[in-house]
Amino acid sequence: MTVDLYHLANLKAFLEEHGLEAKHSLGQNFLFHERECQKIIQAADIKPKDKVLEIGPGLGHLTHLIEETGAEVTAYEIDQRLTSLWPELYPDTKTEIRNQDFLQADPKDYSSCTKVVANLPYYIVKEIITKLISTNIPFRSLTFTLQKEEALRLAQKPGDPRYGALNAMLQILGPVQTPATIKKDNFYPRPHVDSAILKIGPITWPEINIWSNTQQIIKTAFSQRRKQLQTSLKPLNISQEAFAQANISPTARPESLDPRSFLLLAQSF
Ligand code: SAM
Repeated sequence: MTVDLYHLANLKAFLEEHGLEAKHSLGQNFLFHERECQKIIQAADIKPKDKVLEIGPGLGHLTHLIEETGAEVTAYEIDQRLTSLWPELYPDTKTEIRNQDFLQADPKDYSSCTKVVANLPYYIVKEIITKLISTNIPFRSLTFTLQKEEALRLAQKPGDPRYGALNAMLQILGPVQTPATIKKDNFYPRPHVDSAILKIGPITWPEINIWSNTQQIIKTAFSQRRKQLQTSLKPLNISQEAFAQANISPTARPESLDPRSFLLLAQSF
């Protein structure tokens, strides 16, 4: 790193020198505090030789520290104003930085990555997480920083009014935890709310077809979350025997079920 961007004064001066302002529309809040970046790396349990996929590296605050662990990084950054500064900032980087919208990227191009780390742009959190869990790449873990309320919401268990389809899917994949909070003062520009780390893993991926059916069942059930499963799941023609085999009452509602019940249902239908 040719400029020490872990100090706010340096970061501000660097942006000003290059005539840059953070773009609110792209969710640009740079996490400039090194100790806070290390919390994410620790939560993700990054080891030398890990192949890390990073989404939205920005000016590389997190990327640089991941690389220092000896891991390999592939990073997708949509803003060309930022990626064009990387050769100047990181002349010796081994990170493969791709100037591309992650939502448009072909999963084949990052299929060798084993862990995902991202300080997520808040405006497309759900889209990014949904893409990562639907593309059949066997990531071992997903570690995100996102708005604290959103992180806590995604970690809620059945029975909580905030529990939804994405919660159920993540909880099937592995333990979902919020190991640390990051105060808003550690970001520039400073957002209105604090952030938290959300970690999913270690992940055990279900067999591909079962996982695809499970996601379909969950989406369909939660699209009418107040309805009984026998009503909301009618379009999927699930037999009474399949409900019985999965030990699920057809009159249950999705928000009250243990998430793994959806997996059992997918296995028997
Ligand atoms: N990782 C940096 C950090 O921690 O300081 C920046 C995090 S900032 C919250 C989110 C980053 O995601 C920004 O750099 C933004 O330009 C980038 N971004 C926004 N939308 C994106 C997309 N669709 N694909 C890839 N990157 C995106």
